[in-house]
Amino acid sequence: MNIHEYQAKELLKSFGVPVPNGDVAFNDKQAAQVAEELGGSRWVVKAQIHAGGRGKAGGVKVVDSIDQVKKAADAMIGHRLVTHQTGPAGSMVQRVWIEQASDIKHEFYLGFVIDRATQRITVIASSEGGMDIEEVAQAHPDKIVKEVVDPAIGLRDFQCRKVATAIGLKGKLMPQMVKLMKAIYRCMRDKDVLQAEINPLAVVGDGDEKLMVLDAKFSFDDNALFRQRGVTDLRDLAEEDPKEVEATGHGLNYIALDGNIGCIVNGAGLAMASLDAITLHGGRPANFLDVGGGASPEKVTNACRIVLQDPNVKCILVNIFAGINRCDWIAQGLIQACNSLQIKVPLIVRLAGTNVEEGRQILAESGLSFITAENLDAAAAKAVATVQG
Ligand code: ADP
Ligand code: MG
Repeated sequence: MNIHEYQAKELLKSFGVPVPNGDVAFNDKQAAQVAEELGGSRWVVKAQIHAGGRGKAGGVKVVDSIDQVKKAADAMIGHRLVTHQTGPAGSMVQRVWIEQASDIKHEFYLGFVIDRATQRITVIASSEGGMDIEEVAQAHPDKIVKEVVDPAIGLRDFQCRKVATAIGLKGKLMPQMVKLMKAIYRCMRDKDVLQAEINPLAVVGDGDEKLMVLDAKFSFDDNALFRQRGVTDLRDLAEEDPKEVEATGHGLNYIALDGNIGCIVNGAGLAMASLDAITLHGGRPANFLDVGGGASPEKVTNACRIVLQDPNVKCILVNIFAGINRCDWIAQGLIQACNSLQIKVPLIVRLAGTNVEEGRQILAESGLSFITAENLDAAAAKAVATVQG
C-alpha cells in the first residue's frame, strides 16, 4: 500500500524527522488559506498523487504570492498529471500540499529498502539527489553507497556516520544525519514499511544550515496492514485501480496487466503458470486473478465482471484445477456470468480435479459456446490463437 507525500511527511514528523511546515488542501481557496496561515513569502504547491517525477511534469510549483498559490492549486486540482511514472493516462490530482519553500543548498538521496537477497533493511544514499536514483545508478554507480542493517542490533550510529561521510556531510550536519536516519529506521520498523524513499533530503538555510526532508515516498507491507490501523486509514482508494479495489471487496486477488487475454484461475501458483503459458505461446495476459479455493458461482460471476471491465480483454482463459474448489460450481458460475453479463468475448475453459465430469457436462448442456481444453498448454494455445484471429 502506498501513501501520499504529505501523509509520509506527517508520519515522519511524528518520529521527530525535520520536514517543512505545511498542510493539505482540497481546493484553491483552502490552498490560499493554508499559505496565509503558514506565513512567510515563498511557498511550494505540490500535487499529491502516488507517483514521482512531479517536479518535471509541473506538479511542483514554487511561488511567492498568495495569489500564485491559489492559481497553482487551481491548475493542479481536478486535472490529470502525467509524469514518467504515471503512464500516459496520468493520475487525477485531488489534493495539493502547501509547504514553506526552503532555500536549498544541496539535494541528497536517502532510501530505506528491504533487500530480499540479504533479507535485511538496507540504506541507500547518494550525494546526487533530486533526480532519478535509477539514472544515477546507471551513470555513476560509484556515487551510491549502501549500508546493511543487522535486525538484531538495529541501525548503529557508526553506520549513519559512515553513510553521512560517504555523501559529503560534515560538521553539525553529521549528528543531524545520525538522528534523522535512526528516526526513519524506527519509523520503518514500527510501521511495517517496505520502502521509504527520501528524494530529496536537502541541506537548507543560510548560515544556520540544517537537514530537511523535502519529498518522501512510502510503501507499506500489505500483509502487515491488519496490525497497522493508523496506516490503513491513510489509504486513498482513488489512487488504486478500481478493478483491484472491487476485487479485494469480493475476496478475489486481481492485478491488472497490459495484455488482452483475461485470466480467471484458482490458486496463485497456477495463475502465475497460466500467465507463463500464455506468454510462452506468444500472447499477453490482461490480468492476474486468483479466485481462491471454494469459488462459489457468485464469486466466478464477480471475477468475470471485473476481468471484463478492462476494455483490452479480447478473450478469457478460465483455468481451474479443483481441489477444494468444485468444477460444477465453476461451470455454474460461468453460465451465470454469461447470462447476466452478456459476455461477448470467447471463453476458453480448462477444468480438472473435483467433479470435473459434472462440470464439463454442465458446460456442454448449457447451449453456450465455450471453447474447452484438456490441459493448461492446450488452453493457453487456444486463447492465443483466438486473440490472434
Ligand atoms: P518529485 O520527486 O515528484 O518530482 P519533489 O517533491 O522531489 O517531487 O520535488 C521536486 C523538486 O522540487 C525537488 O527536487 C526540489 O528541488 C524542489 N522542491 C520540493 N520541495 C521544495 C521545498 N519545500 N522548497 C524548495 N524546493 C522544493
Ligand atoms: Mg522527489
